[in-house]
Amino acid sequence: MALRQYALTASPVNACLPEAPRHPWLVRKNCAHCHQLFLPRHNPQQNYCSQRTCQNKRKYLWRKRKHADDPDYRINKQSTNKKWQRQHTDYWRKYRASHPEYEKRNRQQQRLRDQKHIQGVCKSDASHLAKCDASPPKNNIKSGVYRISPVASGGLAKSDALLVEISYMTTS
Ligand SMILES: [Zn+2]
Repeated sequence: MALRQYALTASPVNACLPEAPRHPWLVRKNCAHCHQLFLPRHNPQQNYCSQRTCQNKRKYLWRKRKHADDPDYRINKQSTNKKWQRQHTDYWRKYRASHPEYEKRNRQQQRLRDQKHIQGVCKSDASHLAKCDASPPKNNIKSGVYRISPVASGGLAKSDALLVEISYMTTS
């Protein structure tokens, strides 16, 4: 009778205690991507929960690290990509045709990259200064229409002259 009483009083207390883990790795961890608590199910080193976005992030980082560290992986990946491109020559043309917003965004980003490249070249390399600096060179030639005549060996102008227009390029 005394034993039964003990069991009845002990039962509610035990119900509140956390269940002991069956395996040492059954301990909740914070996901390295979404930071939510999860229970590693596959191995104790599991750092990402099973959500698709978190698994995609894990795979992306693995591929990135592998690509940087493993030359064999890099070569294999390049040849696989080239083979796929040979077999799907019109993939990107079709993709761009069916995704106009993708093409528009690409064009905008390329324009930004081009601008940054030009600005970077102008800042970093003084030899490109003439190309980047569109201010007129210091000489006496002014914009306008000119007649160009081929000069014969004696210094006399031939009759077949051309009319050309010369104008300075400005950025404004
Ligand atoms: Zn996660």
